[in-house]
Amino acid sequence: MSYVIAPPPVVAVPVEGGGLFPVRRVYCIGRNYAAHAIEMGGDPDREPPFFFQKNPDDLDPSGRFPYPRRSSDVQHEVELAVALARGGEDIPVERALACVWGYAVAIDMTRRDLQDEAKRLRRPLEIAKAFARSAPIGPLVPASRIGHPSRGAITLSVDGALRQSGDLAQMIWKVPEIIAILSQYFTLAAGDVILTGTPAGVGPVARGQVMEAAIEGVGAIRVEVV
Ligand code: MN
Repeated sequence: MSYVIAPPPVVAVPVEGGGLFPVRRVYCIGRNYAAHAIEMGGDPDREPPFFFQKNPDDLDPSGRFPYPRRSSDVQHEVELAVALARGGEDIPVERALACVWGYAVAIDMTRRDLQDEAKRLRRPLEIAKAFARSAPIGPLVPASRIGHPSRGAITLSVDGALRQSGDLAQMIWKVPEIIAILSQYFTLAAGDVILTGTPAGVGPVARGQVMEAAIEGVGAIRVEVV
């Protein structure tokens, strides 16, 4: 059977040094650093994690972030992205890291005004989180080269001024736990990308500003808001 319309292109994230990682799904965890949970009005304790999704083609390696329509409060959230080479259901914590292909620096861009409204009205979060090009991402680096970072600085600056500064060690739910818990609710598979939450200091950006995000041992990205 042939397709009745042209199939959409495969979404892929460049790999440092060459090659493309094809993306299947994008999962995100909320409030995974205690100080950020507090700034969002939440509880820093280890309450069960919650998840939402972005669209695969929201991942954008271009280094340009088009300020989205219908919002006047678009905020940055620097996050460690985890790319899976394999998945499954009910993955044990001890086997979770064996599913990881590599890591990247990403920014979970958020229409905060629409998120606040969605929360207040108990509506879904997609309108705030899953808009076009809402996840600038740097090149993936393979775990075979850098290992599995569990500590190290995670930072974001806007026009050279430090906004977010944390350490991967401050994650409430660690990468293996995130994979294990997600796999209790979703069948994970090769191509899935997980954004692992943001440290404190989220804030708004404006057109013309430049975001620089870095994670020690993983990389750095520069993204212009256009
Ligand atoms: Mn986030």
